[in-house]
Amino acid sequence: MTDARINKESDPMSEQTVTPDPSCADDFDPNSLSVIEALARIDTAVSPIRGYQKLALRDALDRVLVEAIDSPIDVPAHTNSAMDGYALDSRELADHGNTQLAVIGTAYAGKPFKGALGPGQCVRIMTGAVMPEGSDTVVMQEHVSVEGERILLGGDHKAGQNVRRAGEDLRAGARVLEPGTRIRPAELGLIASLGIGEVRVARRPRVAFFSTGDELKSIGETLTRGDIYDSNRYTLYGMLTRLGADVVDMGVVGDQRADLEAAFRDAADIADAVITSGGVSVGEADFVKDTLNSLGQVHFWKIAMKPGRPLAFGRVGNALFFGLPGNPVSVMVTFYQFVQPALRRLMGEREPATITVPARCTGRLRKRPGRVEYQRGILRRDDDGGLVVSSTGEQGSGILSSIAQANCFIVLSSESEGVDAGAEVPVQPFDGLI
Ligand code: AMP
Ligand code: MG
Repeated sequence: MTDARINKESDPMSEQTVTPDPSCADDFDPNSLSVIEALARIDTAVSPIRGYQKLALRDALDRVLVEAIDSPIDVPAHTNSAMDGYALDSRELADHGNTQLAVIGTAYAGKPFKGALGPGQCVRIMTGAVMPEGSDTVVMQEHVSVEGERILLGGDHKAGQNVRRAGEDLRAGARVLEPGTRIRPAELGLIASLGIGEVRVARRPRVAFFSTGDELKSIGETLTRGDIYDSNRYTLYGMLTRLGADVVDMGVVGDQRADLEAAFRDAADIADAVITSGGVSVGEADFVKDTLNSLGQVHFWKIAMKPGRPLAFGRVGNALFFGLPGNPVSVMVTFYQFVQPALRRLMGEREPATITVPARCTGRLRKRPGRVEYQRGILRRDDDGGLVVSSTGEQGSGILSSIAQANCFIVLSSESEGVDAGAEVPVQPFDGLI
């Protein structure tokens, strides 16, 4: 990856003054950065990684194309039948009344009829079979009566019906996929339908992460008084893996300057991006800040959002750096809102925006103005088919079960003072990442 040193004039990450929160009851903080502004600064600071791989098609699942895919062939390659029925020349169709035709053979998918149709003749044809010479129309088998080697059909048919024309889906040379497209199962199929067996995709970004905190124990260790199990490394592992990153789990690092510094150096040496959790809240921020000052260019933001107010962003060595808050829900929210779009951009993906849909709220949602809130919700269809969303209840930023029950974020704007039951609210479905 390139060393995108940020020039001072256009520094997209200019620092916010950190002032102590005067009161927990006051959610408005004039020094905080809006979510939109933070996203814009991150977007400016991240550019796609260089380096690609040529992969066999199946191995390219969930990777991002670095090349355009143009169709080397007409799709379909041959004019063929869209139905099981009888192929005939439309000039045989009587304007009124019935037509009688002799069946002279059968065309199967992959086994074309070799001859040509003469006057008064038709060919039995299966879906996908090449249209025999001299035919341009297919009559569905349900619409004819068969009498021995002859068929009888009524007058209600149109010339050219039930036929898929060569190239009607794609013309040879047509642009099929743009660079920056993520390859999902549908794209795998589409590329395969063109006979293309290898594609060029961006290399996987390597993302190293570790948790910070003296209270953290790993699974298998015994908890002593005041300890908790580290869960952030598991949620991060899951989200990063689903996003297609090459993950490096660096474990737990205690709150000691020397250990932290060594961990940051090691991570920045091997990774395109480094993610940590914990240690960026007021009180601890100075400590991590100190450690990072000598290693890179990192800015500590207070973002006008809940949960997840503190966020550190910048570079450590040549790696992008995200210092996420410690609370487990805050980690997932800040990852979803900021790290996800940044990593998608790093991977060269073209459309990183998360989708928001409107839904009717089943209950009252409480909120104070001053910051955007991402409440955990359950989105479903009601009996009328409309989208409704209900809160998972308790919204504390340490309550992981609130996000495990949820399938979406309910996004309440900074100005919002809460909403009444029945109000329409914007909702972000998790779309498989969380
Ligand atoms: P901090 O941001 O370091 O002050 O942490 C805020 C809260 O999140 C504290 O209650 C921590 O114990 C908790 N926390 C920090 N890191 C983790 C982690 N890796 N797993 C679970 N909880 C954590
Ligand atoms: Mg901590």
